[in-house]
Amino acid sequence: MGNVAEQLAELTGYKDRDVMDVTMVVAMRDMLAPLSVSIYRAVGSPEDRRWMTRARLKGDDAVASADSLSTPLNELPALDEFPARLACLQKHEVRESGSDEGDSTCYFPLLSEHDGDGVLEIISQTRLSQAEQRTVSAIVKVYHNFQGLLDYSERDTLTGLLNRKTFDGSFLKLLAGEGALASTAIEGDRRHETAPAHWLGVIDIDHFKRVNDNFGHLIGDEVLLLLSRLMRASFRYHDRLYRFGGEEFVVLLRADGVTHAAAAFERLRQQCQQYAFPQVGQVTLSIGFTAIRPGDTPAGAFDRADKAVYHAKHNGRNQVHGFEQLVTDGHLQEEGDKESDVELF
Ligand code: GH3
Ligand code: MG
Ligand code: MG
Repeated sequence: MGNVAEQLAELTGYKDRDVMDVTMVVAMRDMLAPLSVSIYRAVGSPEDRRWMTRARLKGDDAVASADSLSTPLNELPALDEFPARLACLQKHEVRESGSDEGDSTCYFPLLSEHDGDGVLEIISQTRLSQAEQRTVSAIVKVYHNFQGLLDYSERDTLTGLLNRKTFDGSFLKLLAGEGALASTAIEGDRRHETAPAHWLGVIDIDHFKRVNDNFGHLIGDEVLLLLSRLMRASFRYHDRLYRFGGEEFVVLLRADGVTHAAAAFERLRQQCQQYAFPQVGQVTLSIGFTAIRPGDTPAGAFDRADKAVYHAKHNGRNQVHGFEQLVTDGHLQEEGDKESDVELF
């Protein structure tokens, strides 16, 4: 077994949850030299949950592989296709199973309040000893504790959604990822030539001040919490949800084209309108969204979506507007068009 302290140092060396799963499998591989080590997470809706591979290292792979976040859900294996893994996930306990080839698999639960529960799977030629299992379990505990710390600094305490502080970083990472996707797609599979499109939506509760005035701050807070739950249920696992402060929420959405993006925001608007908030009754939302453009800035994209919200507020509230459509229809202008009539796009 390699130096456990070194593995722990490695695991907690990045303040980035996307890197943590990869660091974890690398640490396990270096420590135990197994046939393979993988981290899977359960993603999708409660009725249709699937296994997403977050990180996997086999034998002497140089780099870990993983499913892309843009993999369609129906291309991922269903949970019950891997019963032993599923049992570990559901029972929250370490599990072992053998195979006909004589190798042995050990599963460790990775529980996460916000990212979906997962499983660390280690396949080895011989069974992991009790001492090895204890060491892995201890490292998993460090992993959980560290994730708790990350949640504390990156999430809003009331709703558990990501906080504003983490938005710029995610936005820029997303743009960088789009660039990388576009260039690999050109070299490789031509079917995927266009990178998936991303959208930024700003969601603002209508007349929220009245909720506070009429029912008090505590009930107001409950509305915020319930809305965050509606958002989680309404958007997909690969969309990122933020509470920007107050009663303003932001979504980084992946959708192929404006029609799908508009439909996703419209679905949330309708679900909110139909939801009976305890005591308060009906609450409605004004939503603005915009396409994220190459070379965009977080503030620039936010401003465009916010202008679309402003438009919704001044046209009766409880509606969804896309910035680009509002420009096409002559209701709004592109930032660069204001000073001159030069056609920029
Ligand atoms: P509009 O339809 O124009 O958006 O009206 P509004 O009343 O929602 O908008 P405004 O921005 O004027 O008011 C937002 C209110 O949200 C002000 C404040 O009372 C309330 N608020 C902000 N943060 C919190 C919070 O954390 N908890 C609660 N309960 N209320 C909050
Ligand atoms: Mg507001
Ligand atoms: Mg409001």
